[in-house]
Amino acid sequence: METSSQQFASDNYAGICPEAWAALESARHGHAPAYGDDPWTARASDLLREIFETDCEVFFTFNGTAANSLALASLCQSYHSILCSQVAHVETDECGAPEFFSNGTKILLLPTDGGKIRAGSIGETVSRRQDLHFPKPRAISLTQATETGTIYQPAELGTIAEAARRYGLSVHMDGARFANAAASLGRAPREFTWEAGVDVLCFGGTKMGLPVGEAVVFFRKALAAEFAYRCKQAGQLASKMRFLAAPWVGMLENGAWLRHAAHANAMAERLFQGLSTLPAIRVVYPRQANSVFLDLSPDVATALRGLGWRFYNFIGDSGCRFMCAWDTEPATVDRLLADFHRVTAAAPPASSH
Ligand SMILES: *Cc1c(COP(=O)(O)O)cnc(C)c1O
Repeated sequence: METSSQQFASDNYAGICPEAWAALESARHGHAPAYGDDPWTARASDLLREIFETDCEVFFTFNGTAANSLALASLCQSYHSILCSQVAHVETDECGAPEFFSNGTKILLLPTDGGKIRAGSIGETVSRRQDLHFPKPRAISLTQATETGTIYQPAELGTIAEAARRYGLSVHMDGARFANAAASLGRAPREFTWEAGVDVLCFGGTKMGLPVGEAVVFFRKALAAEFAYRCKQAGQLASKMRFLAAPWVGMLENGAWLRHAAHANAMAERLFQGLSTLPAIRVVYPRQANSVFLDLSPDVATALRGLGWRFYNFIGDSGCRFMCAWDTEPATVDRLLADFHRVTAAAPPASSH
């Protein structure tokens, strides 16, 4: 079966990167203990401990929804609440899984600023109600890079985590695009995780070029108690775990995760720069990771789709997301730009509708 040409709909449209594929191939032969007692799982966990420069607890799940919701469930009781942004994946795209796996923990929404939580809004929300009748805030969940393609600086994370501590909240980071954030920040990963106050990170593997799989990394190890049972009960304990873990080894061993993420970010920058010569197209959020968000008129969006391009309507009716992946080619970006020029030459500017 033929796969079709490159698209900008999502980074999970992309295939498997060579390093992950080679590691999977070399794990293919012979027998190995099941359920995570294999050398690949041990090696992948050790590599994560090296990258974060700390003795963290590591688990592998099949997808991000499971990683996030099981991690959050391990932070909360059913009568607690989780604070997150209005556009957080855990709120808008997980079908209530965080609430389900925590047996009813309520999600409370914080006002957001370009997809980011403001530290000040934490105190405001926690202080609004402190009586027995309201679900007690116990965790904060933030996304790095955010759903709108922006990035928290280490200092911003520190301020948020400080507010979280003040109110007795644990800090969860949804890192579905953690690699893109890491490549963009260019700092040691510890600086924007545990040193900044993050207790548990869901490190996305799928979108950075793995076939499947996410890592749940507990920096505060006490929170990982009995987490293996949660994974098993939720159907997230892989029996042939080595095939979930091996691609991580290939990806982490020689820094491929950062190289591929940096490439995806650079392709988004190429798109952003190319669009800057088109006054009819308004960029909605700062370009910081591997996406560009645009406010497109229905005419322009329809014309682009008519030319075969796929992209998501993301924020409201006119907000469109263009996402780059580890394998996005410069020539694909340039073809999209050429089509942008074509369709906007025929359409009125963004300000007129
Ligand atoms: C893709 C994504 C996830 C994980 O989604 P799954 O489809 O469950 O793997 C989690 N958070 C964010 C912000 C994402 O973009």
